[in-house]
Amino acid sequence: MKPVVVAGAGISGLALAFELRRLAVPVVVLEGEGRAGGKIESDHRDGYLCERGPASFLDRSGDLAALARALGIEDRWLTAGDAAERRLVAAAGRLHDAPATAPAFAASALLPWLAKLRAGLDLVLPRGPSAAGMEESVAAFGRRRLGSLAGERLLEPLVSGLYAGEPEEVSLPSAFPLVAAMERERRSFLLAMRAEFAKARRKTAPRLASFRDGLDELTSALATHLGDDLHLDSRVRRIEMDGVDFHVVVEERGQRGTLAARAIVLALPAHVATSLVGSLDENLAGTLARIPYVPVALVHLGYPASALARPRDAYGFFVPPSEPLHVLGGIFPSQFFAGRAPVGFHLFSVRTGGARHSEALAMPDDELAALADRELRGLVGLAAGPSFVHIVRHEQALPQYTLGHMGRLAEIEAGERRHAGLFFHGNAYHNAGVPELVSRSWKLAERVAGFVKMS
Ligand SMILES: Cc1cc2nc3c(=O)[nH]c(=O)nc-3n(C[C@H](O)[C@H](O)[C@H](O)COP(=O)(O)OP(=O)(O)OC[C@H]3O[C@@H](n4cnc5c(N)ncnc54)[C@H](O)[C@@H]3O)c2cc1C
Repeated sequence: MKPVVVAGAGISGLALAFELRRLAVPVVVLEGEGRAGGKIESDHRDGYLCERGPASFLDRSGDLAALARALGIEDRWLTAGDAAERRLVAAAGRLHDAPATAPAFAASALLPWLAKLRAGLDLVLPRGPSAAGMEESVAAFGRRRLGSLAGERLLEPLVSGLYAGEPEEVSLPSAFPLVAAMERERRSFLLAMRAEFAKARRKTAPRLASFRDGLDELTSALATHLGDDLHLDSRVRRIEMDGVDFHVVVEERGQRGTLAARAIVLALPAHVATSLVGSLDENLAGTLARIPYVPVALVHLGYPASALARPRDAYGFFVPPSEPLHVLGGIFPSQFFAGRAPVGFHLFSVRTGGARHSEALAMPDDELAALADRELRGLVGLAAGPSFVHIVRHEQALPQYTLGHMGRLAEIEAGERRHAGLFFHGNAYHNAGVPELVSRSWKLAERVAGFVKMS
């Protein structure tokens, strides 16, 4: 039987290939780089563990834990400490706790009274377009339900923190389907959030997690499991179709060759998929090209414990776009995960760039480090400069589910139907979170296996 070709060995392609093998479908994974993992990569330097991409995940469905068990790495699982439950928001140059209960909301200095009263109107406001499955920006949703200031300080920071995006452009139902579902099912956003926070406080609630030596323990284990079915340094250059089979033109260590496949899954960034399907279907390529990406720079900063006057026992902080800062947010990995910094030091990972500050990517390392240190110190209250700096730049870090994304997804699905056996997978379409990509891989594997077995 001709194999299924999976192009791209990020978590999406790897988890999909794992499941296809479990379903007894022959599979070949082609990865353009010399390593598997894509955005997931853990750097160990000077006793620090710096994640080049994701630093943690929340495995709501349990699929990621099941995958870790199947790979035999469940003992490497690392659950975050209690500090990870506390989120901070920057406002007027200070960090405030993001309120998680009604009394905390009432007492919070994050919002003035008038803004709190306006946000309270959410309790009686009717449902809006997001609840009806229509597109609306995150900023518009926040204004409508909570008012301008509360929307800006409570909701918009999530867009810069998670997607490095622009709240006026990012589509709420596409980027935050759970929030759209909350309005659909419970009408009031605040009541729905109260229920979510109560659920999260239960002992059995899923907790933020990673692996002891970093998230790439997961992708390394997947790569090892795939063995010879994973081809590194094998870049897909073109896809052709003869009516039944696909012919995948691959450049493997400088040599061009063609591989026949019954089905092909493009688990690649949308801008790469665009160039690969251009010869098959110009319209489809055009749709894929309209999924924009933003750049992100991560600045990992290590400080001696003596520089931090009082402990910052929190996950990290989010920055509303209205704050006059260049950093989009930051996390405090050594506050909630063991083994992220040498004893006697703290690690802070600050994110900049994104839709608003893409110019930051062009800054020389010393200027970028100085900017991140200055803004972090102002917020966190550090008394000295960093003794460790590690900078990571991603020119096309994160896809943006901007207004019109739902229409683009419908066109891409129509494209899949026009070219039976061609599938699109990865973070460009539905959700960028690592556990969600694993869950989608399970579902897609069943579709692909069903297609292969029927044809
Ligand atoms: C800075 C940053 C922080 C993040 N933080 C978090 C977090 O804390 N928690 C979380 O859950 N998620 C986080 N994410 C999101 C998450 O990391 C990504 O959504 C996810 O890793 C993407 O996986 P993927 O397999 O879909 O794509 P990718 O990881 O981009 O993989 C695509 C693969 O395709 C390969 N490729 C490209 N072109 C070709 C070609 N022509 N032929 C063959 N191979 C090719 C690439 O080399 C790559 O290996 C973060 C992302 C970034 C960038």
